[in-house]
Amino acid sequence: MQTTKNQTLKIHNSLSGKKEIFKPINEGHIGMYVCGPTVYSNVHLGNCRTFMSFDMIFRYFKLLGYKVRYVRNITDAGHLVDDADDGEDKIAKKARLEQLEPMEVVQRYTVDFHNILEKFNFLPPSIEPTATGHIIEQIEIIKDILEKGFAYEVNGSVYFDVNIFNKSHEYGKLSGRKLEDMISNTRELAAQSEKRSPQDFALWKKAEPEHIMRWPSPWGDGFPGWHLECTAMSTKYLGETFDIHGGGMDLKFPHHECEIAQAEACNGHSPVNYWLHANMLTLNGKKMAKSTGNSILPNEIFTGENPFLSKAFSPSVVRFFMMQAHYTSILDISNDALLASEKGYNKLMEAIDNLEKIPTKNTSSFDFKAWQQQCYDAMNDDFNSPILIAKLFEAVKQINLIREEKESITEEDKSILTETLHSFVFDVLGLENRNNTNDGSKKLEGVVELLIELRKEARENKDFATSDKIRNQLAEMGIELKDGKDGTTFNI
Ligand SMILES: [Zn+2]
Repeated sequence: MQTTKNQTLKIHNSLSGKKEIFKPINEGHIGMYVCGPTVYSNVHLGNCRTFMSFDMIFRYFKLLGYKVRYVRNITDAGHLVDDADDGEDKIAKKARLEQLEPMEVVQRYTVDFHNILEKFNFLPPSIEPTATGHIIEQIEIIKDILEKGFAYEVNGSVYFDVNIFNKSHEYGKLSGRKLEDMISNTRELAAQSEKRSPQDFALWKKAEPEHIMRWPSPWGDGFPGWHLECTAMSTKYLGETFDIHGGGMDLKFPHHECEIAQAEACNGHSPVNYWLHANMLTLNGKKMAKSTGNSILPNEIFTGENPFLSKAFSPSVVRFFMMQAHYTSILDISNDALLASEKGYNKLMEAIDNLEKIPTKNTSSFDFKAWQQQCYDAMNDDFNSPILIAKLFEAVKQINLIREEKESITEEDKSILTETLHSFVFDVLGLENRNNTNDGSKKLEGVVELLIELRKEARENKDFATSDKIRNQLAEMGIELKDGKDGTTFNI
């Protein structure tokens, strides 16, 4: 492990609402579960932010030398349209609308999800299990919960009895809700449902004849409730109690609350020591929603084809932008914010490129050891990436001053600086150096810029044949030019 071996890492635990000192169950090992996507549409940018926060956390644990088993599931069945127990299955609905097999929908959007995450330079999780691959495990858990008296069967469906559970446990403790309040708010709905109480949730739903995604069970053909898969898969791969469970803030209730109830009903104890929740992403100050049109997909940012941004932004710039906010804060994406991030990103990469060339002296005019420690301190304080980035820019400033010979650095400090910068910029923040890693692509970009310049001259001379030729032939090679009010941008 690195210098932080004996230091304390503090994590904001949503369950206690406090920052707590992190102690893994097994020294040197961490079990982490993060709720993955429901693969019925292209992955949302907001979801990317959530997964990116946990990718950064996973990466930092690895830097600290932990052996991490990181499980992030794929929801490919059981997630209903209203997020509770009513409505069509999200994947089945999409399959019906697009006239596809449900598994074609799953395949298409799982591939999309992986493609986007790869562009963002995510590390793959250790295990990526699917709900449909764990139907047997889910049925076994339902049997167990029924046997222990926390669930009941009605007409081929099985429901978790929240009221019985709440007598011996505390339903709502993660989201800070009281069962009595929930009941008094929803009493009138109770009569229409086969549930004993509207707060009860489905562990198993009977499949109507037209429901395609169905499996045999002791209660007849049906499908598992959405909350159950995460209990089944986290228990299977991480054990009855594991270190960290993460997800988006919106999953706290009911999804994570139900996960806690299911696991406690089965095992009699809490499944998770630290609950972490990542906050949401807004666009131009408003909640992102497809229905209002205030929504943007990752690929639309990378290509620049969207009505919100003046140009295309690379995945690395978007990643850097997201890392500039703490994972528990709301982050607003806008054209100005991305432009500023692009400047910052380029400045950081330029400094890293110049690092090799800086001269060394007999003394350092800056305390690089203390600075290195401050980088760790930032991350040890609930993964505070914005503070870390501020620290990285202190190093950028030093590199530039040393180049101008206004400051000095020893050989030893230079290696501390290089190692620390590389560790945090590439290994922890997961940024890629587009300026450096691929010299060929840098040159290609230069050539395209030259062609754009020549095309501009051609157009000014009304030589539209030449300007069209440049545009069309580049398009044939897969290089798209986009004319905007601030000039021409391109996408390779
Ligand atoms: Zn989940």
